[in-house]
Amino acid sequence: MTDLSIPTAPPTRDVYANRTLNLRSIAAIGYDMDYTLVHYNVVEWEKMAFAQGKARLAELGWPTDGVEFDPSQVIRGLVIDVELGNLLKATRFGYVIKAAHGSRVLTYGELREAYAETFVDLSDPRFEFMNTLFSLSEASLFLQYVDRLEAGDLPHGLGHGDVYHTVREAIDRSHADGILKRQILAEPERFIDLDPDLVLALRDLRAAGRQLLLITNSEWEYANAIMAYAFDRYMPEGQTWRDLFSCVIVSASKPAFFTGDNPLYKVVDEERALLRPHLGAIEPGSVFFGGNARIVEQSLGLSGDQILYVGDHIFGDVHFSKALLRWRTALILRELESEIAALIEFLPKQRQLETMMATKERLEAQVASLRLAALRGREGYAPPPVQVPDPQAELERVRTKLAALDDEIAPLAIEASRLRNETWGPLMRAGIDKSLFARQVERYADIYTSRVSNFLYPGPFALFRTGRLDLPHDVKLRRD
Ligand code: IMP
Ligand code: MG
Repeated sequence: MTDLSIPTAPPTRDVYANRTLNLRSIAAIGYDMDYTLVHYNVVEWEKMAFAQGKARLAELGWPTDGVEFDPSQVIRGLVIDVELGNLLKATRFGYVIKAAHGSRVLTYGELREAYAETFVDLSDPRFEFMNTLFSLSEASLFLQYVDRLEAGDLPHGLGHGDVYHTVREAIDRSHADGILKRQILAEPERFIDLDPDLVLALRDLRAAGRQLLLITNSEWEYANAIMAYAFDRYMPEGQTWRDLFSCVIVSASKPAFFTGDNPLYKVVDEERALLRPHLGAIEPGSVFFGGNARIVEQSLGLSGDQILYVGDHIFGDVHFSKALLRWRTALILRELESEIAALIEFLPKQRQLETMMATKERLEAQVASLRLAALRGREGYAPPPVQVPDPQAELERVRTKLAALDDEIAPLAIEASRLRNETWGPLMRAGIDKSLFARQVERYADIYTSRVSNFLYPGPFALFRTGRLDLPHDVKLRRD
């Protein structure tokens, strides 16, 4: 057999599997629009959302001087502690490893004081998870007003919770009231990050017999304009984005779309966005408003495991579609590109770090044995586990080595904790553990990748497999 040289994706553009997924068993693929099919220039979009939120806070008399969006201040997957006014990074077990109060990073002592006995539980309303890139403007605005609260610049009597809820409402209104969207539509080239591979990736899937659906929370007018801008230029002569999607659902109100039984409306006049209640099945070629996932399943005659939903919002897109309906799920995580690029660059140092950690483990085991030798030598109840003429002197020698090794490890470990973001480090890691964000991803997303167009490489017949997962004893067996 000849060995085919097939085009493969670079690691930054690969598709990663938490659970094996065979694309051939998928009959329909639903896509979210914002930050999924269409990627925005995050700094520009979030700066605009931030400015709109700030304008609403100014109407309440809150100061705005010096309040500016700082994209490096936050990353997705962090958690706001509404009670204490902190931004947190937690491990997969909810153990807090880093915190900032407003723009000030807490010292180790402060961190222990606040969180030694508190674990992040996302079902507790005290904690707000930064689910999507849309969360960046909100979190940055919140941190800056926590600073202003501490400086005594906000109306008297407000607490951290009041600041959070007021900021949340300001951002919520900015998304909903139309001004922000009008600004985006007025200058799409400034806000939209085009992807020339996108249309071909979807045409492959469609040609292979998959039904493609658009299911977005955006309203019709906005979705239509954005899709036309991002897609039509890459479509064959005479076709538009509508020719790719057999079904379009706007104003879907996810996650309620997945959890509830919202009624379905048909957009009967697309020019004027006129709606009429619709009782039957979803028909190809039409635009629908609202509705719910059960209607989609019934209309297509498909069960959950034949539908793949592709989105960027951990809770709104992949949590409920997976947990309640057992749809297959794909998470779009654009940050993966810079995260993986940073990991690749750090790889030689990572290997050095691992070698040093293995040496450290050996030295620590020696210390433990020597201490036991000294103890048994003193007490005389059993022979020492190692025979050394002077365990105490040997102990000192090993401890000196360990201290020297720690001095070598420390700068590399610090560098690893600052990859991609100086304060918060990588998205998917918390120290040597997985981050809470990574835990959400592995729990709810069957596969994850940086963009929708990455399906171009594996193609519509791909089988995404998980490797065998290592447990601590597997790692040890393999190393020894
Ligand atoms: P999707 O990602 O395509 O489902 O659409 C997301 C839509 O939700 C966009 O129209 C956003 O402007 C909107 N959106 C994002 N965050 C908020 C919010 O906090 N409040 C209201 N709308 C939001
Ligand atoms: Mg989205």
